[in-house]
Amino acid sequence: MKINYIFVTGGVVSSLGKGIATASLAAVLEARGLRVTIMKLDPYINVDPGTISPVQHGEVFITEDGAETDLDLGHYERFIRTKMRHHNNFTAGKIYADILRKERRGDYLGATIQIIPHVTDTIKKWIIAGASVEYDVLLVEIGGTVGDIESLPFLEAIRQMVIEVNKEKTLCIHLTLVPFITASGELKTKPTQHSVKELLSIGIQPDILICRSDRVISNSERKKISLFCNVPKQAIISLQDVDSIYKIPALLKSQGLDDYICKRFNLNCPEANLSDWEEVIYYQEHPIGEVTVGIVGKYIELADAYKSITEALKHAGIKNRFIVNIHLINSQEVEKLGIEKTLKGLDAILVPGGFGYRGVEGKILSVQYARENNIPYFGICLGMQVALIEFARHVAGMPDANSTEFITNCKCPVIALINECKDENGTMMTYNNTNLGGTMRLGNQVCYLIKGSLTYQIYGKSTILERHRHRYEVNNMLLKNIKHAGLTCVGFSGNNHLVEVIEYSKHPWFIGSQFHPEFNSTPREGHPLFIDFIRAAMEYKHRHNKLI
Ligand code: GLN
Repeated sequence: MKINYIFVTGGVVSSLGKGIATASLAAVLEARGLRVTIMKLDPYINVDPGTISPVQHGEVFITEDGAETDLDLGHYERFIRTKMRHHNNFTAGKIYADILRKERRGDYLGATIQIIPHVTDTIKKWIIAGASVEYDVLLVEIGGTVGDIESLPFLEAIRQMVIEVNKEKTLCIHLTLVPFITASGELKTKPTQHSVKELLSIGIQPDILICRSDRVISNSERKKISLFCNVPKQAIISLQDVDSIYKIPALLKSQGLDDYICKRFNLNCPEANLSDWEEVIYYQEHPIGEVTVGIVGKYIELADAYKSITEALKHAGIKNRFIVNIHLINSQEVEKLGIEKTLKGLDAILVPGGFGYRGVEGKILSVQYARENNIPYFGICLGMQVALIEFARHVAGMPDANSTEFITNCKCPVIALINECKDENGTMMTYNNTNLGGTMRLGNQVCYLIKGSLTYQIYGKSTILERHRHRYEVNNMLLKNIKHAGLTCVGFSGNNHLVEVIEYSKHPWFIGSQFHPEFNSTPREGHPLFIDFIRAAMEYKHRHNKLI
């Protein structure tokens, strides 16, 4: 069977949750037994989001094969079982970089390089490359909003694909906003009409409209939108605000969106079985407890900067049946205002990944507070590195301990670049793997856990695969005093040299991982480390309440 394409565009305003709507639809199609995958096309000029500040564009999601991608790919993996790879996300910048490289090489044989056909052809080629025979449906989400200058080549490529692939095998979904105007007490359909007009002017007639609103869109409004936008009424879907994004698959199904699509594509498949999503919602709505976790980071202005971590904490809440309140705490405030004003009342502390020195001393203070007060501590990537620095400085008698990322010529580089690190026997440390993007350790890497460690017990196995994104490593040469003081290294990379996991056994729950477990957490399965961290948070809360 030839693959079917669903193109998803957005209109009126950005931030309507196009990624979540796309992922939710994919989840319903997957629940019908279809093999589904998703691509995200980003119209900006950066070659990938790896270099964009998380405060601007949200977190950088890392795929198993080591691609630094848009955070929407994280939504895709949380909603469907298909794993994303390099080719599931590309930007205008990547397209241009490819074309310009070929142009310099002389591949175009003297032709004038133009948006049409060269840019649009490359976009089409890359979409088709992502649509392998393994899948029944490929959903293609176009970033940005219709009307943006940058989106035009992408929309033009879709317009061409609709004709070239065959109309029966393609569908265009447009996501719009239907705002409620309080003064008149009405939902307004005009912005949607304008947005569809804009799409039509590019040559794309949407087949389905998903209308975002703060409330249910009534039949009469759907009728009106249908008439003005030339879309059948049953293809006007109301997507009102809901308290949990994991309710959206059911919301789409209840309006027959998946039926409509399957009929259009002539796909014969059973009704969607959403029982595992119903279970997620049931646990979310029937909690038996509540804990509060602090994330001490420096990109807290934008909640999306730690999206996979906040979701993983919520998943752990679902699995434990606890509400997890998440406090985003600015690590610089911890430095400025002190522990009392910033960290009091937390049942657990998590320090996430990060780059650069700003805010690091506040993170170190947070580790110290968690360690000294037996508060569950989870350090991820940079969060593991600062935990090691804190321990070295305050427990192992190494007051100058630091990372060469923060002080280039530091006297006691317990964390350093690989070529600055030595093994315990004094030999230079090296990488022994292929998944290196530039100097970064990226993507899935094998880690071996020491039997008997807490982390081993949590995973229930000794060989794990987790995703990485970092440049600096634990400097094994300086580990002697640290280990002697009680910190244990319980996880090692494939070649047994690089420290992957640290623990402090005199503390009820103190774990640091060089990898990013948050990228492997899903609402249906959770992730063992996060699930146990939240369980430990509840244990701490009980213990603490008994003490006071
Ligand atoms: N900045 C640190 C490094 O490059 C940690 C990176 C991270 O937390 N993702 O190693």
